[in-house]
Amino acid sequence: MSYEGKMLEALKMPHRKEVEKELLKALFKHNGVIKEFSSGEEIVDEIAEDFRLNVKQRTAYLETKYLKENRIKKSSLWHRLLFRAADSLAKEKLISRPTHTFKITNKKEWMLTEAGFDKSLKLFNIPTKQKNDLPIKSFEVQKIVKKLNEASRPENYNPVDKKKKIIKKTKETTLRWRGFRQAIIEAYDSSCTVCGMKICSPDAFLWEVEAAHIVPHRAFGKDDIWNGLALCHLHHWAFDVGWFTLSDSYKIQVSSKANSLPPNFGKMDNYNFLESLSTKRSRILLPSRVNIYPHRNSISWHRQNIFQK
Ligand SMILES: [Zn+2]
Repeated sequence: MSYEGKMLEALKMPHRKEVEKELLKALFKHNGVIKEFSSGEEIVDEIAEDFRLNVKQRTAYLETKYLKENRIKKSSLWHRLLFRAADSLAKEKLISRPTHTFKITNKKEWMLTEAGFDKSLKLFNIPTKQKNDLPIKSFEVQKIVKKLNEASRPENYNPVDKKKKIIKKTKETTLRWRGFRQAIIEAYDSSCTVCGMKICSPDAFLWEVEAAHIVPHRAFGKDDIWNGLALCHLHHWAFDVGWFTLSDSYKIQVSSKANSLPPNFGKMDNYNFLESLSTKRSRILLPSRVNIYPHRNSISWHRQNIFQK
């Protein structure tokens, strides 16, 4: 048995396979990404906490002698174990290595792959069908997010994809849809573009905000960042049924039908929902880069086809 193996056994350190499981769970809890760990990272302590490691186990060092240079290199045993677990998960393609993730996010992070995401769902006994509701990042989805964010903005953009009519729901279209949702939610900082509402579930797994298509799916609207808006449930609904639309300068226009509604409609105590739309700030909240603003052609399609003048 190796020197390291003997130390692991003597200190009753957890088995590598167990560490792999905890690492997948930790990735899930951290929305699919954790920083490349050096011994100072919080995540190193967090997983040690999950195993209830004692001080001795956390602070044990392995000494490697470099005879030629006549020096001794000390490395944390727990840190090495964690790294080996991550390395093994990366070999199984359940997570992406920091050097690979960097190419997509510019950050040195370990990130779940789609296969790793599936496996972590199983570890938490969460049904796979809930995958689409969770904001967990995966390498494959973030690749699409990057593409959507970096695509060059066409002057003459067609937000309708006629080909969508024949495409069935495949793994690829589901990934693309998740990429769209992730890109929109990131671009609008998880806030409703109309009211600014930003809230997640108490366990921080789910965001209330939704990625809305401007030209909707049923009209074969494209999953492009130029055809999306982040909206809270209520504003998403009101936008989809045509209670309001946007001008070319991103100002809110409310349907004139609001004037003929019974007086008790659209009220939450003293708050008048439709009235609040017309008195909103002059412009909706927009992303930080003009390149990913909703496209004029998407908005004008909505004005002509959905909005109830
Ligand atoms: Zn809202």
